Amino acid sequence: MKKIAVLGSTGSIGTQTLEIVRDHPKLQVAGLAAGANVDLLERQVREFRPRLVSLQSEADCKELRTRLADMDVQVLPGMEGLLAIAEMEESEMLVTAIVGMIGIRPTIAAIRKRKDIALANKETLVTAGHIIMPLAAEMGVSILPVDSEHSAIFQALQGERRDRVSKLIITASGGPFRGWNRQALEKVQREDALRHPNWSMGHKITIDSATLVNKGLEVMEARWLFDVDLDRIQVVVHPQSIIHSMVEYVDGGIIAQLGTPDMKLPIQYALFYPDRRPLAGKRVDFYALGSITFERPDPETFTGFGLALRAAAEGGSIPTVFNAANEKAVSLFLDRKIRFPEIPEIIEMCMDAHVRIDNPSVEEILRTEQETYERICTKF
Ligand code: NDP
Repeated sequence: MKKIAVLGSTGSIGTQTLEIVRDHPKLQVAGLAAGANVDLLERQVREFRPRLVSLQSEADCKELRTRLADMDVQVLPGMEGLLAIAEMEESEMLVTAIVGMIGIRPTIAAIRKRKDIALANKETLVTAGHIIMPLAAEMGVSILPVDSEHSAIFQALQGERRDRVSKLIITASGGPFRGWNRQALEKVQREDALRHPNWSMGHKITIDSATLVNKGLEVMEARWLFDVDLDRIQVVVHPQSIIHSMVEYVDGGIIAQLGTPDMKLPIQYALFYPDRRPLAGKRVDFYALGSITFERPDPETFTGFGLALRAAAEGGSIPTVFNAANEKAVSLFLDRKIRFPEIPEIIEMCMDAHVRIDNPSVEEILRTEQETYERICTKF
C-alpha cells in the first residue's frame, strides 16, 4: 500500500491523479488540498476517505466541516492546511498539482519530512529550484516530474549515464496561435486563447501555452530537474504533440518518448516509478498519423518566450519576477482587464524595474513575488 497526498486535488492534474488512484487499490489518499471548490472536495473526501483536507478560506472550511459532519476528517484552512498535508506522517509522496508559487513552502516542508515529490507545479522549481534541488538531494528525496515534457526526458534518461547527455530537446505544440504574427495576436480573445489544439488543462497553463510562456517555464524547470546548462536545452515546435521530448547523447543518438497527448501517463509514471503499470487509453496509430513535423519557435512574435529565456539566463530573483508578473498578467487577461499582447509587456516592464537578487532565500522570493504583484496593481 502506498499513501499519497495531493495539493490541488480539484484541478486538472489533481482529478486525473485521483482517477489513477481509483484504478489502483494499492494507492491510498492520506490528504487532499483544494482552493475553493467545496462541492468537488466533499465528493472526493467521501470517495477517497483522506484523514486531512484543506481549502483556501476559513469560511469554505467551515462549510465543508458542516457537510462532512458524518465523516472522520480534519479540515484546515490556507497555508496551515497545505503545510499540514505536505508533512503528513503516513504519506510517502506529495503530488504538487497546485498552480503558482504558493506551492513553494509546502514542497519544501514535504522534502524536509522526506516525502518524494510528484511535481506538476512547475512555478515552484522555476522560482526556487536552487533551494529545492539541493535540499532534495540532501534529504535523499526523489523529485519525479509530472509535466509531460519532463517526464519524457526522465524516461529517456533511464539506464543512461548523465555525463553522456549532449542536450535536452523539449517539444512544444506551438499553441493555438502557431504561425500567427504580432498584428494578429492583437485580436485574440479569452475564448481563443483557452482553446488548446492538443491538451485539455487548467486555465492558467492553457494561457501560458498560448503565449509560449509555458515553454519558457519548462526550460527553467528542466534546467533544475536535470542539472543541465541552458545552452544545452533546445525547444522544437512539434504541432502534433506525439513526441513529448527527447534526449540527445554524445554519440548523436537521440532517445524520444512518444505517446498520445494524455497527462495520465506521466502522472502514473511518477506515482509508480520505477514501475510501469497498464493504462487504458488511445494508442499512437502511426498509419493514421502519417507524418509528424518540426519548426523553430518564434520568440519575435511570442515575446513571452524570449523573455523567459532572458529570465533563465539572468537567474537569481529574475525568474521569480518573470513568473509572478506572468501569473498576475494571466489572471488580468482571464478577467478581461488586459489584452493578450499585454501579458508579455507586463512581464517585461516588471523585469526591467526589478533589481536582481543573487541566490534569493524563500523569504526574498516571496517578497519579490509580492513586490511584483504590487507593481502591476498600481498600473492596472
Ligand atoms: P488547475 O487550475 O486545473 O487546478 C489548480 C488546483 O489548485 C485546483 O485544485 C485549485 O483548487 C487549486 N488551488 C488554486 N489556488 C489554490 C490555493 N491558493 N490554495 C489551495 N489550492 C489552490 O491547474 P492544473 O491542474 O492545470 O495545473 C496544476 C499545475 O500543474 C500547474 O503548475 C501547471 O503548470 C502544472 N501542469 C499542468 C498540466 C495540465 O495538463 N493541466 C500539465 C503540466 C503541468 P480549486 O479549483 O478548488 O480552486
